[in-house]
Amino acid sequence: MGVMDIVVSACLVGVPCRFDGQARPQGAVERLVARPGIRAVRICPESAGCLSRPRPPAERQSDGTVRDRDGRDVSEAFAAGARKCADRAQACAARLAILKAKSPSCGSGRIYDGTFTGRLVPGWGVAAELLRKEGITVVDEEKVAFCEPSVEHPVAIMLGSGMGNLAACVHVVRRIPYSDIEGFPDGAQPVEGHRFEALVGTIEGVPVVVYPGRIHLYQGFSEQEVTALVRHAHRIGCRDVIFSCATGGLDPAIEPGTLGLLADHINLTGRNPLACRTIGSVVETPFVAMGETYSPYLRQFARAAAEEAGIALDEGVYAGLLGPSYETPAEVAMLRALGARYVGMSAVCEVIMARALGMEVMGLTLVTNTAGSADLTHDEVLARAAASSDKAAQVLMGTLRLLGATTR
Ligand code: SF4
Repeated sequence: MGVMDIVVSACLVGVPCRFDGQARPQGAVERLVARPGIRAVRICPESAGCLSRPRPPAERQSDGTVRDRDGRDVSEAFAAGARKCADRAQACAARLAILKAKSPSCGSGRIYDGTFTGRLVPGWGVAAELLRKEGITVVDEEKVAFCEPSVEHPVAIMLGSGMGNLAACVHVVRRIPYSDIEGFPDGAQPVEGHRFEALVGTIEGVPVVVYPGRIHLYQGFSEQEVTALVRHAHRIGCRDVIFSCATGGLDPAIEPGTLGLLADHINLTGRNPLACRTIGSVVETPFVAMGETYSPYLRQFARAAAEEAGIALDEGVYAGLLGPSYETPAEVAMLRALGARYVGMSAVCEVIMARALGMEVMGLTLVTNTAGSADLTHDEVLARAAASSDKAAQVLMGTLRLLGATTR
């Protein structure tokens, strides 16, 4: 079995290394690093910087230096400790770091503002900033707890064209007909051989809700209708949502049958599910930050799962078009120039809705054809997606295995 190396703040897994001589163990982090297939490399940048214990607390100042509460400049020790920890992370080739929130060393995204009043400001701890610069995904313990699957928070999986057979991996305990899902349109029909019903159960022991088929804008459904399944998933407690879709490859070098991980998307459908007069009753705000639409955290698990399964995992930007006609060569050239690697006709509206609802999103795509082909048919796309869907299933199951589940 392959191993996913993760760097983790030592105080989060029970090491009493904080300035006050205490630890800050966090259950979700302890469970994650104890999972088969995961190897934790414990770091404490402040210990590595030879700072004594106990000592006064320190905070990062607005000029980037670090001072303790007595006014002493401890920047050098923080920088030296950060460097040593970054070297350890590089030595074990870890791509993910789980670091203690808000700390002047480990904090990611928000740290104390340097006034010792408990006020938080946007910013990074010294070690977290360095690890990030060196290409490591840094998240805090809150992200790990949020994303940890459980019976209350199953993982939602939305299967795309030709990939409905992945539903066979589910140990089903309950079925929910789409017709019972609020907002799902009456009369929508699945492709032959599939049922429009959500499967509640487990995959690899991880609680999931699998939606084995979906509807599209190109069929004439509205943005609200195509996002009904996402709202349902959120309503029943899902926090992580994995989308799979079939796409055309925009780079002729991408072989049909390649599995890709979505790094970002370009919404070219001309639609947005948040541009709706009643959206205030659905999401807190329609002004959603889309800077990290495809969860860097979940993507690291997908990469590790693919590596473990020996499956080459491509990665790139997805261009979502309205369809249903396929792209012209001129459109393919334009999409390439825009930086897209895959093109398809689904998922973007659902992904936007999921982000607006605060869900963590991962996207997998099966590249079924080279975009812009003169003789492409929808049946061919479905057949090629079905033929390669085994790869997607393996990466999906590996991702779930690594994410694990809690029985809390
Ligand atoms: Fe924890 Fe990081 Fe502080 Fe060490 S430096 S005690 S690992 S938050």
